[in-house]
Amino acid sequence: MEKIFNPSDYRRLPNCLVPCACCGSKEHVRVFKGDRYEFGIRTVACSQCGLIFTSPRPPDDWFEKFYRYHYRQYYESVSVPDEAYLNRDWIKGRHTRNVNLLASLLPTKGTILDIGCAEGTFLDLFRREFPCWTLHGIEPSEDFSKFAVAHYGLQGVAMAKFEELSVRYLPSSFDLITASHVLEHLLSPDDFFKTARVLLKPGGLLFIDVPDAEGDVKGISNLHIGHVYHFSSGSLDQFLAKHGFTKVRAQKGDEKPIRWTFQVVARKAASLPSWKPATVDIKRIARDFRKHCQIGWTDRISKVVKPVKRSVAGLFRAPTAEAS
Ligand SMILES: [Zn+2]
Repeated sequence: MEKIFNPSDYRRLPNCLVPCACCGSKEHVRVFKGDRYEFGIRTVACSQCGLIFTSPRPPDDWFEKFYRYHYRQYYESVSVPDEAYLNRDWIKGRHTRNVNLLASLLPTKGTILDIGCAEGTFLDLFRREFPCWTLHGIEPSEDFSKFAVAHYGLQGVAMAKFEELSVRYLPSSFDLITASHVLEHLLSPDDFFKTARVLLKPGGLLFIDVPDAEGDVKGISNLHIGHVYHFSSGSLDQFLAKHGFTKVRAQKGDEKPIRWTFQVVARKAASLPSWKPATVDIKRIARDFRKHCQIGWTDRISKVVKPVKRSVAGLFRAPTAEAS
C-alpha cells in the first residue's frame, strides 16, 4: 500500500492560510492546536461568519488518495467490509435513526442520491422503508462501493468522488439527497451545497448528518486530518441560507451510546436569496470550541493515541517535496 503521509509531517506543511469556505474571509482566529492522533493540527474560526476549520491543511490531491485507499483502514480498522463490520452497533443505529427522521417527510415514490454511501447499509434500510424509490449512491472507496453492489444488490451505487457528481447526473434528478458524516470531510462545503441545489428537483430535500462542534461528548476525538470542517447548527444554517435551503427538521443526535452529532433536513427554495454572513460572537465561538476540545483530552493519551500511532506507523509518508 502506498505510503502518503506521516503524522509528524503536518507540522512541515507551509503555513498557507485557508480562506473561509462560507464567506470567503481571510481573517480568522486560532481556536485550537491538537487532535486525536497528535498530528499537531491547527484549527481556526472565521472571524466574520464563525465557521471552524483546519488551517493549514495538506494539498487537495493528498485527500483524493487518502479517501480512495487509506481512510477506512485508518479510521475504522477495516479495508473491506464484512459481517463483523456490518454488526457494529453504530452502523445500524445511526442509519435507522436517519431513516426514521426522514420517514414522515417523504412521499412513497421518489429518487434518492446518498453521497458517501460507504458499504450501502443506509440505502438498504431506506429501501425497506421506501420500496418504490429509485436508489443512487456514490462512494470514493473502491472496496466499499463494490461491497454495496455485491452484498446489498445496490446497482445504483458507483465508485466516484463528490466532484464527479455534476458529470454523472443531470440537473433536477433527485427528490432527496443525503450525506451522513460526509460534509465535514469535503474540502469545499460551498460546492456541496451548490451541487445539491442543482441536482435536486424543485422542492427537493437535503439531509445532512454531521458531528456537532458544540457537542458535549467526543470533543478531541472529532479533530483529525479527515475532518477539515467542524459544524455547529449555527454555521450549517449559514450555508443553508446562502444556498437557498429552508430548514424543515433538525435534531441533536441521539446516537447510542453517545450523543455527539446533529441532523438537518432542508428544502430547496424556489430562488437564491441575497445573502451576507450573520453577525457572530467570535470570542464565544472560540471559547466554546476550546471547551469542547478538552473533552476526552486525558483519555486519548492511553486509549486512542498510542494504539493508533502503532497501527498507522509506516502507513503515511511526507507529502510532496514542494509541500514540505
Ligand atoms: Zn467565514
